[in-house]
Amino acid sequence: MPELPEAESIARALDQALKGRTITKVEVFFPRLRTPLEPLLKAGLKGRKFVDCKRRARYAVAELDDGRALTMHFGMSGVVRVEPGSVPKRKHEHVFIHLDDGNIFRFEDPRRFGFLEVQAKGPDGWPECLAGIGVEPLDRAFTGEMLYAEAQKRKTTVKELLMDNKVVTGIGNIYAAESLFASGVLPQRRAGTLTLDECKRIVKEVKRILRLAIKWGGTTVSDFKNVDGSEGKFAQKLKIYARKKCGKCGADTKTIVLGGRTSWYCDHCQK
Ligand SMILES: [Zn+2]
Repeated sequence: MPELPEAESIARALDQALKGRTITKVEVFFPRLRTPLEPLLKAGLKGRKFVDCKRRARYAVAELDDGRALTMHFGMSGVVRVEPGSVPKRKHEHVFIHLDDGNIFRFEDPRRFGFLEVQAKGPDGWPECLAGIGVEPLDRAFTGEMLYAEAQKRKTTVKELLMDNKVVTGIGNIYAAESLFASGVLPQRRAGTLTLDECKRIVKEVKRILRLAIKWGGTTVSDFKNVDGSEGKFAQKLKIYARKKCGKCGADTKTIVLGGRTSWYCDHCQK
């Protein structure tokens, strides 16, 4: 599943591919992903121009010149490509948006948990479906003090706190595991037992690891590919996630299920 760095890589690549392009035609080949796709045909997209594309949480938001935005989430297996019209349609490509330069924006999603809608923007400048989500982890507002204050209020584990989108958005399973490993904090620790120093360390590592992952184009786990078909290289840098041996001390890693997700940890390196 694409996480924040992958969504950032996709949004940056889409910004390059879509900016200034005018939509000439929309085709829908399947009734629905997470929500129906039919509304895309009735949204009056023909003649609209893409202004830019940005990321918020794990969504890519392609802004249109009429103040609306084509908002997308990649679910479990969503892949977006911008390719020439001469490339034949793949089996699980469900939406084509034709562009005035002869390329086609293609949304492929075999498992169909993705999301693609045209939405009006709310007062905060983001589409309605993104209202009420937490602070961005790379934003200045995400600090050790803020995490500490949130941790004091909760009975949950630190891993689940980091993955709570209402607190901080877009830190998925991979990056929560890696950040906690780098901070030396066990994922199953009760949030209320964290010290302010530990919270500061966790926030610092979250930011460092996300920036590194963005630089490396994200992590290729199963289906993720960028819009040009290239794969993220961050998987080679993982120290704990899905590893048999700890990337620091070499001991066997352990796993625990937290919030329905498998969490890897090393009980020598994390306390
Ligand atoms: Zn270790």
